[in-house]
Amino acid sequence: MSIEENLNSVKESLRSGVTLVAVSKTKPVEYLQKAYSAGQRIFGENKVQEMCEKYEVLPKDIKWHMIGHLQRNKVKYIAGFVDLIHGVDNLKLLKEIDKQALRHNRIINCLLQIKIAEEDSKFGLSKIEALQLMQSADFKNLKNISIQGVMGMATFTNEEDRVRDEFKSLKQISDEFKAEFAKYNDQNSIISMGMSGDYKIAIEEGSNMVRVGSSIFGSRNHQ
Ligand SMILES: *Cc1c(COP(=O)(O)O)cnc(C)c1O
Repeated sequence: MSIEENLNSVKESLRSGVTLVAVSKTKPVEYLQKAYSAGQRIFGENKVQEMCEKYEVLPKDIKWHMIGHLQRNKVKYIAGFVDLIHGVDNLKLLKEIDKQALRHNRIINCLLQIKIAEEDSKFGLSKIEALQLMQSADFKNLKNISIQGVMGMATFTNEEDRVRDEFKSLKQISDEFKAEFAKYNDQNSIISMGMSGDYKIAIEEGSNMVRVGSSIFGSRNHQ
């Protein structure tokens, strides 16, 4: 199947109100161009340099989402154009995003990454840590960031019940954070969960933003 066909079949399987982030990491710009021509405008990348290179050559109405773990010293390279940073999990990083956003005279949208999987390797905050972060005095001084919601990754497993429970827990945390998020966002806050292998389950459990790569662009040799 072609990228256009893959994209359309993924879109058809999304409930209305679910935003599709086309995860284009490791894929050449020609692939993104095809998806762009088919109407896709939101692309997700996980490496700063790769995102910058693609940003330079592709149309400027693309919304770039940073979905990977972002190092503080690299925030400056994307601060001028990034639309949403999904994986924020500490205050030091948020402070740097705020500082760089101020330099560009903009507000940068962020999602707090919540650890819902049991695997140790996954980044993210616990619910308590996220709450403490949002209620800290340091956090309240950050004027150039906007926390739009949460992001999470389920355990990589075939056990559907486990994946479903992890997504349920993120939905519940998001509901509990509604009051905090309402300070930034008078509409529904974002729950970014679901990838190629599990986005249908994620949507059933309340996701309103899915990050789909291989089902659109084909499998990758490496992450
Ligand atoms: C790579 C990646 C995805 C997309 O994964 P696929 O299985 O190819 O759909 C989604 N989210 C994050 C954080 C990723 O790193």
